Amino acid sequence: MSKIICIILAGGKGKRMGGKVSKQFLLLEDKPVLYYSLKAFEPFVDEIILVAAAGEEEFCRKEIVEKYNIGKVSAVVTGGAERYLSVYEGLKVIDSEDESYVLIHDGARPFISGDTIERIIGTVQEKKACIAAVPSKDTIKIGNRAGVVVDTPDRSNVWVVQTPQAFEYGSIMEAYTKAIASGRTDITDDSMVMEAFGDYKVYFVMGQYDNIKLTTPDDMVAGMAILHAKSRN
Ligand code: C5P
Repeated sequence: MSKIICIILAGGKGKRMGGKVSKQFLLLEDKPVLYYSLKAFEPFVDEIILVAAAGEEEFCRKEIVEKYNIGKVSAVVTGGAERYLSVYEGLKVIDSEDESYVLIHDGARPFISGDTIERIIGTVQEKKACIAAVPSKDTIKIGNRAGVVVDTPDRSNVWVVQTPQAFEYGSIMEAYTKAIASGRTDITDDSMVMEAFGDYKVYFVMGQYDNIKLTTPDDMVAGMAILHAKSRN
């Protein structure tokens, strides 16, 4: 039977956040950021694979999965040195003979809504590859290494990309295997892997402007505001 599996990435060390605690474990109200990401997916997926940084697996298992009783987590796996290597570790433990779908999500994006998750699942079942994104409100410029503007893409075609990014499992596994074998190291999202090494076109799905990635200390201030706004709704 076809399954919906989610890989949640919590393997980053959050260098840009400063401090000692990885960003996915910082508290929002009284709960860790990662708790909100896991809880958001639980109603919609069959299984969750949690990717933790080396040495943080037990902490994730005890202090997050068990403490908050997240029953759909089927495995906690050790991530790699870069995001794309962590994704590959998650993909490798998926045991899938039938057509399954995998949703890949940054654990550091705790404000993902059920509506976005449902839109992603609906689209991936139909199109096989899709990503959450929002139209850019800003004009985007392409620059060169000398800091000079070289191009201005038409803003009506520019999207700011988020997660979840979702794919038919066999196709993204094959594309990732090729990408890793190619030795490419500039992979910053999963869509890039499908675009360069896979067979399916990747479709945009409307995300949310508040589906931010908590990266710097400023983001935690914005995060508290988003959480409060959500709790009022
Ligand atoms: O570092 P960046 O902000 O791109 O991280 C996005 C997500 O990928 C975060 O949830 C982070 O925990 C995860 N990540 C990972 N393994 C890495 C680097 C980042 O799982 N080596």
